[in-house]
Amino acid sequence: MDLPRALVLNVSYQPVHICGARRALVLVLSGVAESVADRNLRLRSPSAEFVVPAVIRLRQFLQPRWQPMVRLSRKGILTRDTHTCQYCGRRASDLTVDHVLPRSRGGRTAWTNLVTCCDQCNARKGNRTPAEAGMRLIRRPNRPPLYGYALDPLWEPYIVFWKS
Ligand SMILES: [Zn+2]
Repeated sequence: MDLPRALVLNVSYQPVHICGARRALVLVLSGVAESVADRNLRLRSPSAEFVVPAVIRLRQFLQPRWQPMVRLSRKGILTRDTHTCQYCGRRASDLTVDHVLPRSRGGRTAWTNLVTCCDQCNARKGNRTPAEAGMRLIRRPNRPPLYGYALDPLWEPYIVFWKS
């Protein structure tokens, strides 16, 4: 059975790692970590049954193996979009960041409302929505994955500065 992975938090509740569910369970059973969020899933051995953790917290401080996460910034948006205008698909040097739903219309400064945009497309779109401007997004803007993994809804409460 393929089990969903677990988010690993430091003593301070800072995400530091993602590991396999079995590994997470071993860490909990050996007392290295505690489970702070369980899945509605069980692993059975011949003699016992274990709840599969979704989020575990280490009992001792661990130096993060990876940089924490990509913070919401112009650089972060451009990196997520591989420096490609999300309207015309052009890789350019004159890139800017566009609010899909304009700020003046209540559009939020969030991963899901910001895209990389070239100067031309930016001027063409102006203060309109893509539909109003007759423009289409190459793909829907999303939060970047965490350490290369898709964000699990059960992890979200522990990734506070990602909530945007
Ligand atoms: Zn463009």
